[in-house]
Amino acid sequence: MSELSTEEILEGIRQWIEIESPSDDPAAMARMARRIETDYRAIGAEVARIAGRDGRGDHLLVIEARLCPDAAASGPGILILSHMDTVHPLGTLAGPLPFRIEGDRAYGPGAEDMKGGTYLALAALRQLAREGRKTHLPIRHLIVSDEELGSDTSRAHIEAEARRARYVLVTEPARSGGKIVTARKGCANFTVTAHGQAAHAGVEHHLGRNAIHEMAHQILALEAMTDYARDLTVSVGTIKGGNRSNVVPDHAEVEVDVRFPNPEIGEEIVRRIRAMTPMTRDVRLVVEGGINRPGYEKTPGIAALFEHAKALAAEIGFVLEDLKTGGGSDGNYTAAYAPTLDGLGVDGDGGHTLEERLYISSILPRTRLLMRLMETLGAG
Ligand SMILES: [Zn+2]
Repeated sequence: MSELSTEEILEGIRQWIEIESPSDDPAAMARMARRIETDYRAIGAEVARIAGRDGRGDHLLVIEARLCPDAAASGPGILILSHMDTVHPLGTLAGPLPFRIEGDRAYGPGAEDMKGGTYLALAALRQLAREGRKTHLPIRHLIVSDEELGSDTSRAHIEAEARRARYVLVTEPARSGGKIVTARKGCANFTVTAHGQAAHAGVEHHLGRNAIHEMAHQILALEAMTDYARDLTVSVGTIKGGNRSNVVPDHAEVEVDVRFPNPEIGEEIVRRIRAMTPMTRDVRLVVEGGINRPGYEKTPGIAALFEHAKALAAEIGFVLEDLKTGGGSDGNYTAAYAPTLDGLGVDGDGGHTLEERLYISSILPRTRLLMRLMETLGAG
C-alpha cells in the first residue's frame, strides 16, 4: 500500500497542465477530457460522458460507488464539482507560462484554477481505494468544460447532480492562504442603451436629443444603487457614445456589473434596474441583461459542513478558515440544493494571469482533507 505522495500527485497535475484546455477550443478540450477519462479509468472508476454542445467540450461524470456499501451506492451522494477548462489560450504553455517549479511554487496554465484542485479529487479517491477505506455515500465527480465562460452548457447538469447530492464539494482554489469559501455573492450584468436624436451641434442643436446627456443621469442613478451596508454593488464598467464632437449624439451605451449577497436582494436590484426610465424628453432607454449567477449565503447547513471540515483539518494538522467572496463559481448553482463548500482545491495565487501557480506544500494537507470529507460525510 503506497503512501500519499506529493511527487506522484504533482506529476499528475503537471501532465494535466501540459494539455492546454482553453474553454473555446473543442479539439483541445477533447484532448483534456480524454486524458482525465483515461486517468480515472486507470484507477477503476466509472466515467460517463455528457456530450458538449454549442462548440463546447464534453463534460465528464465520474462515478465512484465501489467504496461505499451496496445499499447506498445508487442513492444521494457527495458531488465533487470541478472544471477542466482554463482561461489561457493555446500557446501559453510554450510561451509565457511554461510548467516550472520554483521552490514551493509550481507554475503553469490552470495550475491553480483548477487542474490542481481537480487532480486532488482524483488523488483522494485513488488513495482511499488503495488503503481499502470506505465511504458512507457514493461519490460523483462532475468535471465541466465551460466554467470559465459561465457554464451555459453545463449548468443544467450541475443543478441536476446537486439535486441528488447530500453535499457538494467544489475544488476551486483556496483563497488568501488556504481559506475555503462558504458564501459567494451573486452577479448580474446589464447593458443600458440610450437612443436619442442626432442633429448638427451648431446649426440645429435644439432639434437634437442627446443620448450621452441622458446616460450621464442614468450612470449616476445606477452608481447610487450601491449599498455597502447591504453588501450590494452596482458598477458602471464601460461607456460608449457619440461619433464626433459637432453632432448631438443619438446613441450611448454602458455595461453594468452588479453583485449581491442573496437571491432576494438580487431580484430586487434587477427589478430596479429594469424599471429605469428616461429623464430626457424623447429619449428611449433599453435595458438588457439579468442575473447570471445567483448568490448564496452561509446557511446553517453550510455552517455545519464547514465546522465538520474544520475539525477534520485540525486532526490533519492545519487551521481551516472560511470567507465570503464576490467572485462567482459553479458553487453558486449548487448551494440552493445542497450544503456546498467551495475553495477546496490547491492553495495558490495568480489565477487567470501569467503568474498562475499552486503551492506544492498545500497538496498533501488538502488531499487529506478531501479524503476525510469523502470518508466521513453521511455517517449516522
Ligand atoms: Zn476555476
